[in-house]
Amino acid sequence: MTQTEDKVLSTEDTPLVPIEKIVSLSKRRGFVYPNSEIYGGVSGIYDFGPLGVELRNNIRRYWWWSMVQTNDNIVGIEGSIITHPRVWEASGHVENFVDRLVDCKNCKRRFRVDQLPLENVEQNKCPECGGELTEPRLFNLMMETYIGVVEGERMKTYLRGEACQNIYLDYDNVLKSSRMQIPFGICQIGKAFRNEVTPGNFLFRQREFEQWDLQFFVHPSEMQKWFDYWKEYRVKWYEGIINHKDRLRLRPHGPDELAHYAKQAFDIEYRTVLGWQEWEGIHWRQDWDLSRHSEYSGHDLSYTDPETKERYIPWIVETSGGVDRTFLNLLLDAYEEEPPSGKDKEGRTVLHLHPWLAPVKVAVLPLQKNKEELVTTAKDIHNRLKRLMVSQYDDVANIGRRYRRQDEIGTPFCVTVDFQTLEDSTVTVRERDSMGQIRLAISELPSYLLQRVTWNYA
Ligand code: ATP
Repeated sequence: MTQTEDKVLSTEDTPLVPIEKIVSLSKRRGFVYPNSEIYGGVSGIYDFGPLGVELRNNIRRYWWWSMVQTNDNIVGIEGSIITHPRVWEASGHVENFVDRLVDCKNCKRRFRVDQLPLENVEQNKCPECGGELTEPRLFNLMMETYIGVVEGERMKTYLRGEACQNIYLDYDNVLKSSRMQIPFGICQIGKAFRNEVTPGNFLFRQREFEQWDLQFFVHPSEMQKWFDYWKEYRVKWYEGIINHKDRLRLRPHGPDELAHYAKQAFDIEYRTVLGWQEWEGIHWRQDWDLSRHSEYSGHDLSYTDPETKERYIPWIVETSGGVDRTFLNLLLDAYEEEPPSGKDKEGRTVLHLHPWLAPVKVAVLPLQKNKEELVTTAKDIHNRLKRLMVSQYDDVANIGRRYRRQDEIGTPFCVTVDFQTLEDSTVTVRERDSMGQIRLAISELPSYLLQRVTWNYA
């Protein structure tokens, strides 16, 4: 996957963008709002506004297209948020899904022990004020809920702490209903809930968030081959949607980070003002999940090879990432404040989002608002384009200001209807990143734009 040819971005590394800039843009332009803001908000929970929901849908759709739709050996499911409580005993979450926390006795700040610099842990010293830290306390991250209405008969269960468990639960049904044979994969995008004790950094660490997972089921002898295959596939996937490829890396887990069943694991990490942080995990899960669910449910989840008749518990390669971290990282990657230059006297804020993912694909602008023919023609073009892609009509303020408004939300193309349009039915198409303009016949607009803004346009 490559960026479109229109993209002319500076290759030199631009400074890392402070998260506050993204928070402010998100609220101002309708990407993300604090949840329940009129009641003071809830920490670690956010809502997505009109542009946010478009961007989010595009991110999800592109993942689904490239993971499920274009791979014959992968199918998708959508599992529920609430499951039988035994699921979380089998998965180990009830017992082990805990964070160790310390508080500073002086400044009262709270920290996760695994996120503190080693020096502070060893010296029991607050990284902010140098004060003394309390003994570590354990907190379970699972969010509890209850099924049923009659007191005493209600069943305690959990909002899922990770989305992927549904895939193991539905594995046998998928196998029987979809004629899949090993090797094959199941994908899902879905919400997960964690009582994170230190939520923060905007969408980076939330209490309600969304994950995407591939669980790929293989014969044990092919585990290494498929692990390497998906590791590479996923790195390329992320490279294809970002501008700053030098901010992406694959980090192998050290021996102390590996689960007992994992021969290896990698994090795909992205560098922001928060430093290098996990974006997606590539995990060697072996037969752990299906064995545990076989044991706890009493339902045999082993697989019989239709040709060799060999019976075994499939091993699993997992790729597990976050929709919200993708959303945040893409904004951090795309945001740029460009100083005034030859073409643009005032400077501008631009979101260099990939045209596939940009929330609005095209804006249609009449050069002047008070010329009825310009307005009618522009509205007519907009009305035709909006059936194919997200299009905005805008006639408020001068054309330069309207271009900047669109640049700030990442709209890759602006179509301007001017006086020449009335003579020869052509329009100006302005490209966001280069600010270059071409003249195009109105009749050619739909196919020209579709080719540039949709990934599956043949
Ligand atoms: P971390 O070490 O950052 O807590 P994790 O290893 O617990 O993450 P996983 O359980 O592997 O994360 O979840 C898979 C993906 O889900 C992560 O790579 C990340 O993109 C996303 N994710 C996990 N926790 C959160 C959260 N609290 N808020 C937003 N996204 C999250």
